[in-house]
Amino acid sequence: MVHCSAVRKLLVLVALIGCTKVETPPPARPSILLVTLDTTRADVVRPEVAPNFNALAARGLRFNRAYTPVPQTLSAHCSIMTGLYPAGHGVHENGRYLSDRVPLLAEQLKAAGYRTAAFVSAFALARRFGLGRGFDVYDDQMPEPQEERTAKETTDRVLAYLAKPSPQTSFIWVHYYDPHFPYAPPPPFRGYEGEVAFMDQQLGRLLSAFHGAVIIVGDHGEGLGEHGEAQHGNLLYQATMHVPLLVAGPGVTPGVNDTPVSTRRIFHTIRDWAGLDASHSLRRNEKEVVVGEAMKPFLDYGWQPQVMALENRLKTISAGKIEVYDVIADPAEVHDLAATADISRDVRAALRDYPIPSQDVPAPAATTDEERRKLASLGYVSATTKPVVRSDAPRPADMARLFPLLDEAAQLFVAQRYRDAIPILQRILKDDPNNLDAALRLATSYSSLGRDREALAAFERAQAIDPNSEDVRTYLALHLARGKDWQKAIPLLERVVAENPDRLPAVEALALVRERQGLFEDAIRLRQQIYRQRTPTSAELVQLGRLAMDVGQTAVAIDAFEKARNDHDLELGVLYLSAGRLTEARDALDRVAASDPGYPMALFKRAQVSVLLHEPDAPARIAAARANATPLTRELIARERLFGGV
Ligand SMILES: [Zn+2]
Repeated sequence: MVHCSAVRKLLVLVALIGCTKVETPPPARPSILLVTLDTTRADVVRPEVAPNFNALAARGLRFNRAYTPVPQTLSAHCSIMTGLYPAGHGVHENGRYLSDRVPLLAEQLKAAGYRTAAFVSAFALARRFGLGRGFDVYDDQMPEPQEERTAKETTDRVLAYLAKPSPQTSFIWVHYYDPHFPYAPPPPFRGYEGEVAFMDQQLGRLLSAFHGAVIIVGDHGEGLGEHGEAQHGNLLYQATMHVPLLVAGPGVTPGVNDTPVSTRRIFHTIRDWAGLDASHSLRRNEKEVVVGEAMKPFLDYGWQPQVMALENRLKTISAGKIEVYDVIADPAEVHDLAATADISRDVRAALRDYPIPSQDVPAPAATTDEERRKLASLGYVSATTKPVVRSDAPRPADMARLFPLLDEAAQLFVAQRYRDAIPILQRILKDDPNNLDAALRLATSYSSLGRDREALAAFERAQAIDPNSEDVRTYLALHLARGKDWQKAIPLLERVVAENPDRLPAVEALALVRERQGLFEDAIRLRQQIYRQRTPTSAELVQLGRLAMDVGQTAVAIDAFEKARNDHDLELGVLYLSAGRLTEARDALDRVAASDPGYPMALFKRAQVSVLLHEPDAPARIAAARANATPLTRELIARERLFGGV
């Protein structure tokens, strides 16, 4: 510090002396590379598994006690990109959306003159979930039909990007996904460690192509069976919370740091390098009470909410009861010291003050079937249910026997294998009778199989678990809307959509019901609302276009057919003509192929356009329309007054 300020004083002095040659030196802002390693435990990056990580660690600062704020991919990355715990940014589990009101690191760096690029390797981090803001490039293209890509595929794309020279300093985020379950690395690598080793090999390629400051971090670890957890997301123990972290670059003294830190401070560290603000930067050895949460079991199953606070060597977990572990002496966390440990005031305050997600304002969920299917294929199935706080809620750590069943049932459900899901859901409910998520999935499974009586009984059970649940209302309404009693669904759907216009399945069901009721304007408005939230398919756009055409909403119909593109030139030509957009009508009708069943109609309409445009070949076009006429167009041609004077 003394040294730095002395240099600064000297520079000011030189400038004051009036030597005109001296200019203010450009701020030493490095290009910055952030690499996030999915599902990478702190204890797996040993030199023989991850030589490239260790080579850089030898030149940088390695944090031996870094913790993720939350053991879920999207939530953990939201913390890195916002500097906030999940209670701050609102994303407690995968499949939720980050609010666009939360400022992001990339936005700040872009505003500060950085070029920004992100390369992610799994659908869980797709742009739609909210992390794309501020990135010039956000590469989330997965090789179809997969929902993830390998570290090699991602690295190839980053290297192609880096090969293009740019005068700007860069902020580049690269996310590798390989160690995530299932463990299937390319040969000769094998198993979970093999995935990490393969990823490290690609990390080596990436690091040799980049020059600047580097941060490498695990987003969370992996249970590998510890405390009954195979993967991650349900518990707060070291296996999933303790992650590798290294920082290398300007102003970083190489070495090893044993102070507990939260990976959310990566946000502050990168701001520090970019010259924005140095507070909470990992370049400063700042002591903090490190906090973490795992709310997925609370939000999805109604179990106890879980919060941890870590200070020095003691980790305190609050989840129905207090557990305390000395994670240095007992990293496996088998000796609970709660009876004797002296919990500090700061730790008590951190646990007491950490906000439990509210029942009333859940983050919006990924609610389209497509999104759920994609997340499920990555081993993530997040329920869309709101939390139910029960006084007798079990502790997640006591429910580990249900983790495999819950995972299996959820995977089968999202894969629409309802027949297989039902017996597993019944087993879960036998063990955990108040599991709203299982009750709802069971009801919906019966409903999808057309087993109406059993579906209604299961919905009643779900309603008994939580009489105020919007989810129960929604799924019951969807069930009714599918059957012959569809009119009973109307008041339920109206209420859900009024209370929560983001609830896409309910909005979609209501749109269909409105069509059946003959309320087409309403159906169109609802469809427009849906397509603002998700991208419509071409077929859906055509359907919207036809609906709008039927009720004379020409502008809406044109917009829909223009977006649908392929092969709707006849509809577009007709609509442009009725909107008086003659040259556009001409061009659209000219694109209708002679093989199209609508070709005779296109010739008739084209002849009308030709007359209105005063084209010299109008008579020839009328003749062509007559020569190719169908009974319908022959009558239209005969009655067309425009053709009388030609
Ligand atoms: Zn992850």
